[in-house]
Amino acid sequence: MNRYLTAEHLALRDRVHRFGKEAIDPVSRELDESGVFPWENIKTMAEMGLFGVPVPKELGGMGLDYLSYILVVEELAKFDASHSITVSAHTTLGLSPILSFGTDAQKERFIPPLASGRVLGGFGLTEPGAGSDAGGTRTRAERDGDGYRINGSKIFITNAGVGEIFVATAVTQPGVGAKGISSFIVCKPTVDVEGAERLGMGHVPDLPFTDGVRAGEKEDKMGWRASDTRELHFEDAWVPAEQRLGEEGQGFTNFMKTLDAGRIGVAALSLGLAEGALQSAVRYTAERQQFGQRIWDFQQVQFKLAEIATDIEAGRHLTYHAAWLKDNGQPYGKEAAMAKLFCSELSMRATMGAIQVMGGAGYTNEYPVERMMRDAKICEIGEGTSEIQKLVIARTMLSELMAEMNDDTGARQREPAVAGS
Ligand SMILES: Cc1cc2nc3c(=O)[nH]c(=O)nc-3n(C[C@H](O)[C@H](O)[C@H](O)COP(=O)(O)OP(=O)(O)OC[C@H]3O[C@@H](n4cnc5c(N)ncnc54)[C@H](O)[C@@H]3O)c2cc1C
Repeated sequence: MNRYLTAEHLALRDRVHRFGKEAIDPVSRELDESGVFPWENIKTMAEMGLFGVPVPKELGGMGLDYLSYILVVEELAKFDASHSITVSAHTTLGLSPILSFGTDAQKERFIPPLASGRVLGGFGLTEPGAGSDAGGTRTRAERDGDGYRINGSKIFITNAGVGEIFVATAVTQPGVGAKGISSFIVCKPTVDVEGAERLGMGHVPDLPFTDGVRAGEKEDKMGWRASDTRELHFEDAWVPAEQRLGEEGQGFTNFMKTLDAGRIGVAALSLGLAEGALQSAVRYTAERQQFGQRIWDFQQVQFKLAEIATDIEAGRHLTYHAAWLKDNGQPYGKEAAMAKLFCSELSMRATMGAIQVMGGAGYTNEYPVERMMRDAKICEIGEGTSEIQKLVIARTMLSELMAEMNDDTGARQREPAVAGS
């Protein structure tokens, strides 16, 4: 992987690895059981700069490339997917649309508190009737004076309770489908303002909080249990027009671009999970004795682990390549979908394989692999299911083929309007 990684990348990865080993590893099992959001670790991660890795320094970030951010997400996931998705949803879904599509004033107002990790962010696209079909958004934003009045609900929103700054979609022009969807920056206080004030992070009192935006109860999930997933409700929530992100009607297109980048993040998270599971399995099988020898010495066990290691290497190539394309200003939507499809499915295969070679021990919470398997499953669903990734890949392939046939070199820009938050 040295083809992709510089000495700076490796140093960053080592720093995150040391933090994971010292601060996440000892508490990951307990957090999975309790479902408590890991605020203490989040504070340290903010101090390390991990909530603004690809953000320019002048806006309070680390000013590093996208691949650096991908390495952070991957490394955190080796220890705990909940820590990793908290960074990933915050960065690629909450912060990056403002960075990519915001006005200078919006960037100056909202990026520094997000990039420093003083507050967490997220994005609200999914609704009860609009999941894979995100163009079916029902949340409505009607013009009202110098702003918009928003009514509706979003579901399954990562960081919805703990976060304060969100980008959400709403229909501004009904009857024209996805072209009638716009996006807005909305702020609401974190669910535990007192706790945040005690900790000294998680709440910025002078944000323009929007009355009528509130988070629902925390979801009780199979995996990512320490990550905060909730509904986000809009009840006559009035936002000034200057908090509209991009032009009216551009919300859907912008979200599709946001998801392209987000998918590289989910691929990295999946990879980290697979690597964490493989490491556990290798350690265990090198010690466990059956039939008078280490189970590692059985060829069937070796082959299973060799297959997982090969899958991981292939997934890493896909993921780093997609990040490299993005860093180098080349089209990357198809490659991001490929990386996400392959790595999310590999993380299920890897975690299941790790449990298999660890036998009954792997099935108990004595070892992290059963948690990792539960954490891996959502990677095949969030930010577009595997089925939706195949649609994105197939439609892009088709448009590339058509372009080749028509000698139309601009076709890669016309990637398909397939949603799947
Ligand atoms: C823990 C968690 C965190 C999440 N975080 C966020 C977040 O931060 N922000 C956000 O906006 N959303 C978030 N989501 C929502 C997530 O992105 C959606 O759950 C996902 O896009 C799938 O939508 P759905 O659940 O409505 O499934 P559905 O769209 O109902 O899909 C159900 C099944 O039908 C299949 N299907 C649907 N359409 C097609 C088709 N055209 N062709 C073939 N098969 C199809 C799907 O692949 C799937 O297998 C989160 C979800 C979870 C569980």
